[in-house]
Amino acid sequence: MDKTIINDKLNRPLRDLRISVIDRCNFRCQYCMPAEVFGPDFAFLPKSELLSYEEIERVAKIFVQLGVEKIRLTGGEPLLRKDLPVLVKMLSELDGLRDIALTTNGVLLPRLANKLKEAGLKRVNISLDSLNDELFGSINGRNVGVGPVIAGIDAAKSAGLGVKLNMVVKRGLNDSEILPMAEFCKQKDLELRYIEYMDVGSTNGWRMDDVVTKKQIFDILQEQYEIEPVDAAYYGEVAKRYRYKGTNTNVGFISSVSESFCSSCTRSRLSANGQIFTCLFNGNGHDIRDFMRQGATDDQIISRIADIWNHRGDRYSDERTAETRANRKKIEMSYIGG
Ligand code: SAM
Ligand code: SF4
Ligand code: SF4
Repeated sequence: MDKTIINDKLNRPLRDLRISVIDRCNFRCQYCMPAEVFGPDFAFLPKSELLSYEEIERVAKIFVQLGVEKIRLTGGEPLLRKDLPVLVKMLSELDGLRDIALTTNGVLLPRLANKLKEAGLKRVNISLDSLNDELFGSINGRNVGVGPVIAGIDAAKSAGLGVKLNMVVKRGLNDSEILPMAEFCKQKDLELRYIEYMDVGSTNGWRMDDVVTKKQIFDILQEQYEIEPVDAAYYGEVAKRYRYKGTNTNVGFISSVSESFCSSCTRSRLSANGQIFTCLFNGNGHDIRDFMRQGATDDQIISRIADIWNHRGDRYSDERTAETRANRKKIEMSYIGG
């Protein structure tokens, strides 16, 4: 299939698309959807506002024509969206798409892993921030212990999906879990990604002092393990990866705060209600849903998306200061999905 390659103002091509399929979640992680804010009366999107699977497929197909090679499904909790394997199947049949992945908290994987794999899913990233039931239950805000997530990890592995783990590290909360999580993943031959706690949205009360940087995590790991760098697998790879010496097990770091990677950021995001975001920290979404529903043709949608990308100049993490933090219109992580 012929692709039209488009670049943004900083000469970055469009390569990846993250699609949030739902803004709801069965967890209330303190750093993402704090329970005090996302309470029982919180107004989530009604079904009519969500993009239908046909609409998601249509937009995704156009993104692929414009250079996207990888799609990641996310949320909220993507596995809460009814019949998600149906969407996975539709997307996996898109000509020109190389990879389709999913980020999930994992608890619904025992029920869905096989169906997702059969539908064409290749990989899952499962989030797990602690191996201690009490601590994990308090982080996820729903008192869910570690067991259901581990069952999800095991189900994904037995289904033949590639599995990586995501761990957000917040100082004073779960930094004591850095080594236990490393050991657990090493034993299970799982790639763990330590994620620096980010100032996404405006509800998690983020402070720079709460960030445990990649270097600090790396130093803790090095006291226990010998690790060696691994070459980036592809241009724009977000994680910096290392390998435990003498093994094939990797460990990665997503250092969005301390060592930003905006210059190679090729990601666009599509929210559950059909807005395009060009950066995790740029709250100005561009509507595509109503445009489609009003009868826009594929050519008109292609021109709109190309125009949005051509005007993109985002490099928030490169420029992060107290002032840029205060002045940004932010968007919640649960809305555009990390
Ligand atoms: N519910 C799914 C999950 O938790 O994997 C998918 C959506 S979640 C928003 C995607 C990823 O963003 C998760 O790995 C989560 O840990 C991460 N995340 C959420 N808030 C974050 C924050 N403030 N800083 C860094 N990562 C965050
Ligand atoms: Fe839900 Fe994922 Fe956010 Fe946790 S990180 S509240 S699981 S969307
Ligand atoms: Fe990409 Fe924005 Fe993150 Fe920079 S801050 S890497 S532009 S999403």
